[in-house]
Amino acid sequence: MTIALNASSAQPFAFDNSYARLPQQFFTRQAPSEVTEPWLIKLNEPLASELGLDVEALRRDGAAIFAGNLVPEGADPLAMAYAGHQFGSFVPLLGDGRAILLGEVIDRQGQRRDIQLKGAGQTPYSRGGDGRAALGPVLREYIVSEAMYALGVPATRALAAVSTGQPVYRESVLPGAVFTRVAASHVRVGTFQFFAARGDADGTRALADYVIDRHYPELKDAANPYLALFEAVCERQAALIARWLHIGFIHGVMNTDNMTVSGETIDFGPCAFMDDYDPATVFSSIDQNGRYAYASQPGIGQWNLARLGETLLPLIDADTEKAVEAANVVIGNYGERFQIHWLRGMREKIGLSSVEDDDLELIQSLLAAMQAGQADFTLAFRRLSHLAADESAEASFLATFRDPSAAREWLLRWRQRLSRESQTGAARGPAMLSVNPAFIPRNHRIEQAITAAVEDGDFSLFEALLTVLAKPYEEQPAFSAYMGPPKPDERVLQTFCGT
Ligand code: AMP
Ligand code: MG
Repeated sequence: MTIALNASSAQPFAFDNSYARLPQQFFTRQAPSEVTEPWLIKLNEPLASELGLDVEALRRDGAAIFAGNLVPEGADPLAMAYAGHQFGSFVPLLGDGRAILLGEVIDRQGQRRDIQLKGAGQTPYSRGGDGRAALGPVLREYIVSEAMYALGVPATRALAAVSTGQPVYRESVLPGAVFTRVAASHVRVGTFQFFAARGDADGTRALADYVIDRHYPELKDAANPYLALFEAVCERQAALIARWLHIGFIHGVMNTDNMTVSGETIDFGPCAFMDDYDPATVFSSIDQNGRYAYASQPGIGQWNLARLGETLLPLIDADTEKAVEAANVVIGNYGERFQIHWLRGMREKIGLSSVEDDDLELIQSLLAAMQAGQADFTLAFRRLSHLAADESAEASFLATFRDPSAAREWLLRWRQRLSRESQTGAARGPAMLSVNPAFIPRNHRIEQAITAAVEDGDFSLFEALLTVLAKPYEEQPAFSAYMGPPKPDERVLQTFCGT
């Protein structure tokens, strides 16, 4: 049984639940299922304040609330309906099989944010799954989503993690946990597909209007708001995926149900950051064909967005031919949009403030040298940033390459290019350090933190990682060990969904 707070109890959330006011086919009301022994692993207090929540009340009641045992006043718990292409195959009904939207709050900036429990028990969309989450993946999502935020990449946030005291049965028996996710919204490309696949034109339109209202209100007055919506989502996703590439992030499961229309990164399953630069890098154990490899992500983004465009066709124009033509122009421009974002960020990474035609080639030849020399992606750019301010750092930059000959030649070309910059060397160093992180959530560190927590109930490594990753662009000498790539025996070759 799930207990509801009575009026005299704390009301940590000022809920205003717009999704619950949408037509009934959008969701199914579903309360979370109670767990036996809720224990609060972590409450993100700065985020709770940003959301305008009662932090004091959450310190007291957070374990019960974030486990789903105590449904706070004003919540209207529901599981959202959606469909999706999973590894290219269409599944007409997925939905929240283990996630429950408690409701929405308006944050201190006036932005509407979803509060969702992930792993809070079965829903009508569970399709035989247990509705639960294991501790390891919950900690992974907590660490990586907060790291993304600190790195400046749009992403859902982590509000809390609780352990349930109950086992979950996967390939082995694992401790269970519930993750509390905060999102600009949980509307996915797959949400649009859900209505389109059922031929529910009213549903598609209601969803599109909801998304415009919530995420793109400036488009209401556009000549064709639905075409403008499609274009705006393409723009945000192009910008987002470019940011992923800039920091070496591999999402791992870019199914259309894991792509938001808000432009936030969502669903941190088998995601991971690359160590050595290799565009073909894949970590996910379920991605055996490398569909979602590092360098494939921009193209997959376009593929997913084309699926979104298909759902919007009837809204874009009653004349299908005209609708297809208009949507094709938008999807055709995606590559260029992506390239603009990617190139802008890559120029910053190598310290260029002006634009020259050969910059792309200069960037590509550095990446080629990194790939051939098996350079660590993050360290190489960080050390290049040091080199921009201090000539004596050249040796440490070159030391990131197994064979530094190509990198040495590249430095000559780089310096020639810099000589045509108006930006001074003194300004260049700090500018590069502010875009090339010292710290990323390296896979082996995440694994170590998870192992300590799962096997020994020791959360100190988890806490340490959160601390260091909160300031990824600062030097933090006390944590210098967290900068480096894994030793050969620490290397993580595969990551798992943990579902
Ligand atoms: P994901 O791979 O996490 O994006 O999930 C894909 C789909 O599987 C979504 O509809 C999830 O709700 C569902 N799902 C994943 N894990 C579980 C689980 N343990 N129980 C029920 N449904 C699940
Ligand atoms: Mg998902």
